[in-house]
Amino acid sequence: MQNKSIPSLPSMNRQPLGFFPTPLIELTRLSKALNGPKIYMKRDDNTGLALGGNKTRKLEFIIGDALAQGADTIVTAGAAQSNHCRQTAAAAASLGLECHLVLGGQEPDQLNGNLLLDKIFGCHIHWAGNNRKGEDIPDIVEQLENAGKKPYVVPYGGSSELGAFAFIEAFKELESQRQEMDISFTHIVFASSSGGTQAGLMLGNKIFNSPYQIVGINIDKGETDKVPFDQYIVSLANSTAALIGADYSFSETDLMLNSDYVGDGYGVIGALENEAIAMTAQTEGILLDPVYTGRAMGGLIDMIRTGKIKKTDSVLFWHTGGAPALFAYASALAVSQSDS
Ligand SMILES: *Cc1c(COP(=O)(O)O)cnc(C)c1O
Repeated sequence: MQNKSIPSLPSMNRQPLGFFPTPLIELTRLSKALNGPKIYMKRDDNTGLALGGNKTRKLEFIIGDALAQGADTIVTAGAAQSNHCRQTAAAAASLGLECHLVLGGQEPDQLNGNLLLDKIFGCHIHWAGNNRKGEDIPDIVEQLENAGKKPYVVPYGGSSELGAFAFIEAFKELESQRQEMDISFTHIVFASSSGGTQAGLMLGNKIFNSPYQIVGINIDKGETDKVPFDQYIVSLANSTAALIGADYSFSETDLMLNSDYVGDGYGVIGALENEAIAMTAQTEGILLDPVYTGRAMGGLIDMIRTGKIKKTDSVLFWHTGGAPALFAYASALAVSQSDS
């Protein structure tokens, strides 16, 4: 592929929170084990904020905006084992901001994984029962305002236009590494769940005039979504294009969202995730997570085995983080205590 000059992007308020660029590496042993194509990995599990993950990128712009607006309190929502909430809690702590997390379900008997880390960061946790996607936030914001605070709401998964913008910046980071390493890709494969990563990468692909197939592996059945997930990603890509003054309009035919691997739903770990986690750990010494990257890598492995991705292709797997959740899912992982 030819090297192109890298276009400049509009500047936004940005609060440094992580270490960038994250490494771009080649997974030769995994590729060999699959008798597959070249596989590269973008290591956003190493963004550096509190065990890392893709939300650190989004939070640099979202928290940058919160600070510009004079906020003193951050409110966001997620699952009990949300990586987004853990990184938000760490970001808030590092800046002396109060943090409120609205978590789906009930308080579990044992603190573990991301939830343990949320507590270590000293944030306030509100258990929301079946209101799993932040439905309780307006009431909590009102209470905080009545108490004289200046709350700022970080959207679910950090997937606002600013969150998606972070992944246009990430695409730019990737392109300069790719040029430096003199490599090329046919596909970028990653876990997609609140849509900001995918919307940003789709836009980056367009802005940088790149030919990659941007393949999100859907990790959630989306049964409770108010707007179907595919429509949501397309509209987020379009509103993010508008934010930066770019004249692009995506439609659903531009979207590659693969929903073949949602299995029994969000956070239900099966053979697909278990094999991907074991294979990546045992060929490369790299940890995936049970909910997102394990499922996405399981999807990639299946696409390679079934010939949807060919040996002559060249794949970038975007590692979006999440390994702290391994501990909370220990009982669902295929590892045996009696192994010797
Ligand atoms: C949030 C998350 C994703 C999905 O990113 P979205 O931008 O929300 O689609 C993937 N992997 C991990 C580990 C995550 O925490």
